Amino acid sequence: MTGEFALIHRIARLAARAPSPDVVLGIGDDAAVLQLPRGSQLVAAVDTLVEGVHFPIGTAAADVGWKAVAVNVSDLAAMGARPRWALLSVTSPDPRAALALARGAMACARRYGATLVGGDTTRGPAGASVTLLGTVPRGRAVTRAGARAGDDIWIAGVLGDATAGLACAQRRLHPSARDRASFLRALDRPNPPLALGLALRAVASAMIDVSDGVLADLGHVLDASSLGATLGAGPLPASRALLRAVPDVGARFAMQCRGDDYTLLFTASPRYARRIETIAQRAGLPATRIGSTHALRGLWREGPGLRPTRLVAAGFDHFR
Ligand code: ADP
Ligand code: MG
Repeated sequence: MTGEFALIHRIARLAARAPSPDVVLGIGDDAAVLQLPRGSQLVAAVDTLVEGVHFPIGTAAADVGWKAVAVNVSDLAAMGARPRWALLSVTSPDPRAALALARGAMACARRYGATLVGGDTTRGPAGASVTLLGTVPRGRAVTRAGARAGDDIWIAGVLGDATAGLACAQRRLHPSARDRASFLRALDRPNPPLALGLALRAVASAMIDVSDGVLADLGHVLDASSLGATLGAGPLPASRALLRAVPDVGARFAMQCRGDDYTLLFTASPRYARRIETIAQRAGLPATRIGSTHALRGLWREGPGLRPTRLVAAGFDHFR
């Protein structure tokens, strides 16, 4: 393969294998032309992955491509929106790695029903930026701002596996080969629960994806909704692998608050609890009630003797 145009041609041919009626004009012209379904609103998100910041140096290009799309699917899922069109800006030291990255991105897009419709290609250190466009029925997007005092706070799936994967990649954690593989998969190939996000549109009052860390992300919902919350004293939902690999309760809780989980945190009126369990079961994921919201601001956790202690939400912040 020689040069940028040959590369783009290869990507275009691969993308054309999955034609979609909502793509009037895909890769190859100056811009894509997309058909918005009647009665829907456009939902847009962009996220950038930089080598050494968002993924360890040496991560397979295909995994970087997958994750660059997946983190955006996670954002759209948290809005209750259906992904449709992806634009991929890739920087890569060589065309072979760029193609591998684009293949990974296309695999993830296909998995979630989206088509790659354009992008940009630049030589540079490995990295990718994906813009994902999706749709939601008019007025139905689920925001961070809709939580009400007295709502339950729920987590879909489990927390901490990607952080354990990073610890494995950095040789700080040494679990069994099988658990290690599953942690690295969580780190490199996240699978955000899109079907669940779409189904939750009917019941969730507010929703956010867990990317910065569960406490930080819950803090974003509470700020946007002008509320506080108290978490139960129980553990956060964890995989069997994490329970095995990190038996210490405190160390595990800390790992589970580090982010990169790409699952959903949402609030809902307690009257929907049974329905939420059914919806989650259908999506093949556990849903765990971790606490509830209240008018008193701040984030608290029930402790021994039922004396709540105040938590300081420390998530990932690039500039701190
Ligand atoms: P321009 O200079 O007009 O931006 P480009 O040569 O960058 O044109 O891109 C030509 C076509 O290829 C456009 O349709 C663009 O969206 C698409 N394209 C370029 N790079 C990528 C990529 N990495 N992935 C998908 N499409 C791409
Ligand atoms: Mg361009």
